[in-house]
Amino acid sequence: MTEAASEGARSSGVQPAAAGGNRLGQRYTVPSGWQIATLVGRRSESPSAETLVLDVPEWPGHLAGQHLDLRLTAPDGYTAERSYSLANGPALPGTSRVEVTIQRVRDGEVSPYLVDDFPLGSAIEVRGPIGGWFVWDPVHDAGTPVLLLAGGSGLVPVMSMVRARREAGDRTPFRLIYSVRTAEDRLYTDELETLVSRGDGFEASTIFTRAVSLTALRGPRRLTSSELAAWGWPPELEPRVYVCGPTGFVEAVARMLVAQGHDPARIRTERFGPAAG
Ligand SMILES: Cc1cc2nc3c(=O)[nH]c(=O)nc-3n(C[C@H](O)[C@H](O)[C@H](O)COP(=O)(O)OP(=O)(O)OC[C@H]3O[C@@H](n4cnc5c(N)ncnc54)[C@H](O)[C@@H]3O)c2cc1C
Repeated sequence: MTEAASEGARSSGVQPAAAGGNRLGQRYTVPSGWQIATLVGRRSESPSAETLVLDVPEWPGHLAGQHLDLRLTAPDGYTAERSYSLANGPALPGTSRVEVTIQRVRDGEVSPYLVDDFPLGSAIEVRGPIGGWFVWDPVHDAGTPVLLLAGGSGLVPVMSMVRARREAGDRTPFRLIYSVRTAEDRLYTDELETLVSRGDGFEASTIFTRAVSLTALRGPRRLTSSELAAWGWPPELEPRVYVCGPTGFVEAVARMLVAQGHDPARIRTERFGPAAG
């Protein structure tokens, strides 16, 4: 546990929901709509992000792009609740494994605890899936080109869409533009490279906003309108567009898209927080 994470968890009074098994369910009444999940695995995605694998026995299934709520409860009854996108591809009813990828927010209350200190076997309350608008479903949505714009951890729900496409063997043209602070902060790097190398209509461009290598072709800066036009789809193709990330990123990108002639009705957005990426 880092000092920051330790302090973040202590100052709010947030403690492990219940270490080991489903003890939380024995100590608290689980309100309607919530159920107890168990942390059964975790993978590091970057120095500051972890994928948590949860076993949720009564999970009703989900679509790519939906999210769940996680809730931690302290012994004094204080609760902290946060939303996290489902990172794995879509799941049918009866699937009990769900994955979330959590980016540690400096000075955050919940994310440092989940990234740094939440031990395997712990129980946590979950509710979901939630959201029916920011979704891509290969059964209903295949065929129309898709433009995905992700800032930071906003990559998580759009990655679920990319995984949905791959798992369905779908060849709908997908273009992803991923804006991230530094190379070190990238998520799912190897998987994205593998998917691009398949040459089946999935393309990805990554830009760095804070630092780049000496050999990089562009300096560290935010996405420009000309880059968006070059790497995205032209409005005439009428793509479905999904934009997700920090509020500043989402607002700036949505403004650029509309200025380039994209119909706002085809732009779906999801905001993760107040900071710009
Ligand atoms: C629908 C939805 C899906 C989400 N999916 C994911 C996901 O897949 N992965 C993920 O890591 N996060 C995701 N988030 C964000 C997540 O819910 C939390 O907001 C985030 O983990 C920070 O929580 P915290 O308790 O650590 O920080 P807080 O204690 O809530 O905030 C601490 C400080 O950080 C700022 N802050 C809060 N959130 C962010 C942020 N996202 N970026 C930058 N600064 C922030 C606050 O203004 C505050 O100053 C999602 C949010 C929503 C609404």
